[in-house]
Amino acid sequence: MEIITTVKNMQTLSGKLHKNRYIGFVPTMGFLHRGHLSLVDRARSMSDIVVVSIFVNPKQFGPSEDIKTYPRDFEHDRRLLEEVECDILFYPDVGDFYPQGYSTNVEVEGFDTTLCGARRHGHMRGVATVCMKLFNIVRPQLAVFGEKDYQQVIMIKKMVSDTNLDIEIVTSPTVREDDGLAVSSRNIYLNNRERKDAAVLYQALLFGKKLIEEGENDAYKVVKAIQNMIEKKTTARIEYIEVVDSQNLKLVERIEGPVLLALAVYFGRTRLIDSIVVIPERFQRR
Ligand code: AMP
Repeated sequence: MEIITTVKNMQTLSGKLHKNRYIGFVPTMGFLHRGHLSLVDRARSMSDIVVVSIFVNPKQFGPSEDIKTYPRDFEHDRRLLEEVECDILFYPDVGDFYPQGYSTNVEVEGFDTTLCGARRHGHMRGVATVCMKLFNIVRPQLAVFGEKDYQQVIMIKKMVSDTNLDIEIVTSPTVREDDGLAVSSRNIYLNNRERKDAAVLYQALLFGKKLIEEGENDAYKVVKAIQNMIEKKTTARIEYIEVVDSQNLKLVERIEGPVLLALAVYFGRTRLIDSIVVIPERFQRR
């Protein structure tokens, strides 16, 4: 695996490769786990060259969110990527990526009114900006994103379509622990009690899904049922539980088609997100 640490060197290499190789790209913030590796596998199966980036993007952290404590372990990440036969690891530093005087941001309108976009001010813009820059530097024909960050992948698809980028965006399913908890770099911050409690998130989402499948179409009732389950089983602090249209992420009152059940919940100081798409049978095409 080749490790590239400057924007210039990455651009020179991808400029050459892009001409006759199909480049599959997986952007990450590192501290890699099985979820990230599933995206690498997916990219591998669909392209000639796999590029993974590790970059903890300061622009997607709010002023009250501490980027300094975001977990990092470069050696561990490097080893894992060697094992899954990643071809190129792009590992730029912040000063090179956003040099002094950097002033351009990418904003995909309408993503700051629901889900994480409504709570983490500037987060979605930070994600769009870093992805646009990474796409220009790595020049992939394909990029793989996890369904775990559902809002992010919908926004990136919109950005790619609106700006005519010639990149196929592929979505890969959420990898979970045995008890259903979505694998996440942030799980490392959970103490034993919190880790056990956190399993409630997926259970509660599945409960919401079941209600919808049994005919419930009042989004408020579904949200309440999910909330009750989390509050009954844990002392976690709920940031949001929302039912949104799974295509445009607009809040839904009556469930009349495919929806996303999504939540963000704090266990102690650790904020976890999870979501599932529900396509009630009565709306499935036969
Ligand atoms: P991050 O390093 O958290 O920015 O995530 C990098 C990519 O990995 C994003 O596309 C995430 O959606 C994806 N990802 C993170 N956790 C998981 C997971 N448990 N299963 C699948 N993909 C994931």
